[in-house]
Amino acid sequence: MMTDEQRMQLVFALRQSGVRDTRVLEAMEKIDRGAFVKGLFADRAYEDMPLPIACGQTISQPSVVGLMTQALKVEPRHKVLEIGTGSGYQAAILSLLARRVYTVDRHKRLVAEAQEVFHRLGLVNITAFPADGTRGLEDQAPFDRIMITAAAEDPPAPLLAELKTGGIMVLPVGQSDAVQALIKVTRTETGFEYEELRQVRFVPLVEGMGPE
Ligand code: SAH
Repeated sequence: MMTDEQRMQLVFALRQSGVRDTRVLEAMEKIDRGAFVKGLFADRAYEDMPLPIACGQTISQPSVVGLMTQALKVEPRHKVLEIGTGSGYQAAILSLLARRVYTVDRHKRLVAEAQEVFHRLGLVNITAFPADGTRGLEDQAPFDRIMITAAAEDPPAPLLAELKTGGIMVLPVGQSDAVQALIKVTRTETGFEYEELRQVRFVPLVEGMGPE
């Protein structure tokens, strides 16, 4: 369980990084990151750093989760898609801000583990399933908001196509293992607008399903 002290430190780290949106701060105070970190690193769940999870992946740093969530400007009536469920932490935060969250990961095992945590925390508006997110989610499209939590060289075209007009997509772009840029894409009546937010480092977006 997250103690009051740990919660205060989390909010402090988030504010230091520029997270000011009160709905985002409140959601991040409510979701216990410790529920999403297992094994060796569990006791570091409340530090502002990325940590290893199963399948060679990572749970993002809380301040980066905060900044990406803030940039997405999620509203209570929104249908949101996340690519890269990982531990499920980011999806859990989005679920407190949106009407419904769809989240997919190419690793079945990560999806299964995240679903258990969603269930335990009573987060009933998240639909998680194994899928290659680069192909988009045609059955549920279009989306008000899309967040990709793995680095692509470019925003995948099927996902751009599934964004509503006025919709926002936030994702890291760049070569894997290099410094990447966090970008915000807004779909307008006539095309797409791009804004670079900051530098980040994410695991790569990989095409196709994972081995487990
Ligand atoms: N949002 C996660 C962190 C994600 S790490 C959290 O809150 O913990 C990035 C995740 O993207 C990994 O779990 C990886 O398996 C997944 N991923 C990479 N390429 C993918 C693809 N093409 N489709 C779906 N998921 C993908």
